[in-house]
Order: sequence, then C-alpha cells, then structure tokens
Amino acid sequence: MQEKYTKAYAEKLDAADALRTFRNEFYLKNECVYMDGNSLGLMSKRAEQSVYDVMASWKEHAIDGWTGGEIPWYYLSELLGDNMAGLVGAKKEEVIVTGSTTVNMHQLVSTFYQPEGKRTKILADALNFPSDIYALKAQLALQGYDDAHLIQVPSEDGHTLDEEAIINAMTEEVALIVLPSVLYRSGQVLDMEMLTKAAHERGIKIGFDLCHSIGAIPHELHDWNVDFAFWCTYKHLNAGPGSVAALFVNENHFGISPGLAGWFSSDKEKQFDMEHTLTPAADAGAFQIGTPHVLSAAPLIGALELFQEAGIGKIRRKSLQLTAYMMDVIEYELGEFDFIICNPINEKQRGGHIYLEHPEAARICKALKWKNVIPDFRKPSGIRLAPVALYNSFEDVYHCVQTLKNIMEEKAYEQFSNEREVVS
Ligand SMILES: *Cc1c(COP(=O)(O)O)cnc(C)c1O
Repeated sequence: MQEKYTKAYAEKLDAADALRTFRNEFYLKNECVYMDGNSLGLMSKRAEQSVYDVMASWKEHAIDGWTGGEIPWYYLSELLGDNMAGLVGAKKEEVIVTGSTTVNMHQLVSTFYQPEGKRTKILADALNFPSDIYALKAQLALQGYDDAHLIQVPSEDGHTLDEEAIINAMTEEVALIVLPSVLYRSGQVLDMEMLTKAAHERGIKIGFDLCHSIGAIPHELHDWNVDFAFWCTYKHLNAGPGSVAALFVNENHFGISPGLAGWFSSDKEKQFDMEHTLTPAADAGAFQIGTPHVLSAAPLIGALELFQEAGIGKIRRKSLQLTAYMMDVIEYELGEFDFIICNPINEKQRGGHIYLEHPEAARICKALKWKNVIPDFRKPSGIRLAPVALYNSFEDVYHCVQTLKNIMEEKAYEQFSNEREVVS
C-alpha cells in the first residue's frame, strides 16, 4: 500500500495541522465521526457557556438586562453583526444578526424587488434550496405576479451551474437576482464577484444566500459591491438549532425603507419614543423587525470567538486540504463501488463538503450512521460528507472512507431500506 493511504499518513497530517487544538473546544462524541457540520454544526464549550451567561443575566437583571449586565441585550444584534462582519468582508454597520434565513430573505426581497416597466422578473437558479424558491414565489405573488415571473437558470449536469448561463439570463426583464453562494448539494462555489459585476452592468440588483459558505469560505461582500446577503448560523457557524440568522445590506443602500418594518427597525435612540412614524436605523439595523431572540442569539457570542481566533483564511485552507484528501482516499479505496464524486474538483469552485452519488445512497447513509459515522443524505441519491476545519481531523476523514469501504464490501447497507428518514 502506498504510504499516502495509511492511517499513519492521516496522523501525520493531523500533527502538522495549525488548527488542531480547536477540536478540543467542541463536544465530540467518542467513537463517532461527525461529517454533518454543514447541516448542524457541533456545540462548542464557548457557545454553551455564552448561553449560560445570558441565562444568568436574565436571572440576575430581569428587565434591566436590556441595557445592563455584561452584554446588554438591546445592543446584542449589533454587537454580533460587528463580530461577524469579518467573515463576510463587510463594514460593521452593514451586518445585523436577526431573524432566520427565510425571514431575512423575505425582508430583503420585499425591500429590493421593485418591479418597474418591463423589469418585473426575478432571476434564480434551478438548484437552490426549496425555502428560497418558495419565498421568491410568495414575494412575486404579493406583487400580483405568477410563478412564470421566476426565471430559474437550469443546470446542465444536474449538479453545477454555469456562470455564463446565469449572465446570459440577465435580461432587461430582470429586476432582481437571488443566488446561493455555495450550492447546498454539490457544494459548488459561485463566482459572486463576477456575477455581481455582470448584474450591475445590466442595471440589476443582486443578493446571495450564504448558508453554505458562511464560516467555510472567505467573502468580500463590500468590495464585490454585492447589494444584499443573508445566512443562517447553525451550519458552519455552530450556533445551534434555530440560532438567529444574519443579513448584509451594502452601505450604498442605507436609507432605503425596509419592506417588512417593525419597531426594532428603529433608530435605537428613538425606538422608545413610541412614535407611530418609524425612524429607521441608519444602517443594516433597519432590517430587523421585532424583539431579538436573545436566547437563540446567545450561543453565537461564544461560537464566533472561535472564528475570530482561528481566522477564516486558515479555516478555508484546512477545509480545502481536508476535502482534497477525502477525494483522494475515496478514489483510491472506493474505485470499484460505483460512487461518483459530483462536487467540483478544482479549488476555486469547491465548497466545504464532498458530494457523492450512489444508487443505494439512502441506505448507505443509514449503514454509516449505524457504524457511528454521521453523513447526510439528499434525495434521491446523494451523500454529503463535510469534514469541518475547526473540529474534524484527517484521521476522521480516513476513518469515514474506511467505514464506507467496509459497508460496501460487506454489503452492510442491505439490511436497511433505501428510503429517506423524516429528517435527513
Ligand atoms: C439551510 C438553508 C436554508 C434554511 O433556511 P431557514 O430559514 O434557516 O430554515 C435556506 N436556504 C439555504 C440555501 C440553506 O442552505
């Protein structure tokens, strides 16, 4: 066997890993290899502690916790926006932590979709996450347009999108473009800078869903001149199930009225004047709606510290190394078992996870779980494996592929049905 495919080699890569100590910050279950951090990131000790801290401030301060205590809740959304700005390449005032991915998308589309003359359509893609598409159709319906007003750029191969095809679809009928930064299945990274430039040259506003890139790859939203973006915090950012999401609005648009207004859209000094005329915050804070979900934002306080300490550049570098290594071992070990690697191979387009297709995918995933390796299944035949830079090791990757090989050799998947679970 070549040295490169031994466990000793994986251990050598781990020993040389600059981020290896971050693994100790997380709760990893013994004997379990977690490869699903792009669906729900693991709990860190810091995130846990920050939840306890916010609980303690509620216990101690009651109503005065809004403006007192160590981290006053009234300014928490802004504080966390500041702490997250570096991850998206934004100015502090351009990011606010609020709502959920889907709610923020409704907020931003209702703000930036302003059909006028023959520019009435929204441009999206055929591979995006369903929630985004439902929201776009609902926003069109609110303006009196049917689904034919949503243009979805098709995929040639069913896995990836061609940026040229997207640009060709940027016609004079398009009022707004919403695309993912990284596709949730194949993990393809779209060239956000190029797409933004092309959209603006054609007089179209453009926004991105960063759910699968936030915390995994660096962004330069401000410099790329992106109009708006939104993302969740429970995948690569590890802030827990249903943790509060975030959004970006380019400072060029400060002053535009929020489509969905509420009293937390207010300038913070004026909010408690209780006037019936809204004075919106001068920055991205204007896109908040109601009282922040303080307990669901709390884990982000601790979770983000780890990103500030590790640095997104180093995280991306290790992530690329992990996925390259994983593809390498998959090709070496699984060559005879009909797996197809469907994520982009090149570094520029490769996101934070590996995407395999196999006709028996649903039950192979069940067999992996039974063997304590946690993948995620995407209907009809996809297996996503996400080796996460902050807590997965090269040995995890080695173990994952060896387990997959054993399952295939022993046909261990045959004892399970090839159907998806309720949550997969
Ligand atoms: C995870 C994800 C969502 C989830 O939206 P929620 O409102 O947080 O449930 C939406 N869009 C994409 C692309 C996602 O990856």
